[in-house]
Amino acid sequence: MKTLQRTLSIIKPDAFERGATGDIINTLLENNFRIVGMKMLHITKAQAEGFYAVHVHRPFFESLTDFMSSGPIVVMALEKEAAIADYRKLMGATDPAKAEAGTIRKKWASSIEKNAVHGSDGEDTSRFELSYFFAGYELSK
Ligand code: ADP
Ligand code: MG
Repeated sequence: MKTLQRTLSIIKPDAFERGATGDIINTLLENNFRIVGMKMLHITKAQAEGFYAVHVHRPFFESLTDFMSSGPIVVMALEKEAAIADYRKLMGATDPAKAEAGTIRKKWASSIEKNAVHGSDGEDTSRFELSYFFAGYELSK
């Protein structure tokens, strides 16, 4: 039996601003991710801080949360077998200079901070992150 998994994806303000949203969604569909939830938001600084609470002691926290609240984003719940690992692979490395050819970050990221997309990094974080942005009734069955 196939075990489907869900993960949270975000098109960050830099990629949204550059008009990458359509291309990134196409890439997700071509790679057999099913979009089970999607919304466009412009989050506040406090909402960005809540989302990235795990990074509160990192030197880039201030700058990261300013950036994430600087413009529209698109949050998506993605479903696939092994969705978490598969989407991490499709995103590419955090630092676009280290991202492999064919990854979303290689194509769209402009720096280690403005790196186009977010993806959950494990089962616990995906549960937290999906519930941060989506109520249960907002997700397809
Ligand atoms: P990832 O998004 O690949 O899981 P992290 O969880 O380590 O990466 O970091 C969260 C986000 O914080 C990154 O996607 C990036 O936007 C930003 N970030 C990470 N490291 C740095 C850094 N050294 N300088 C500036 N911003 C960073
Ligand atoms: Mg991370």
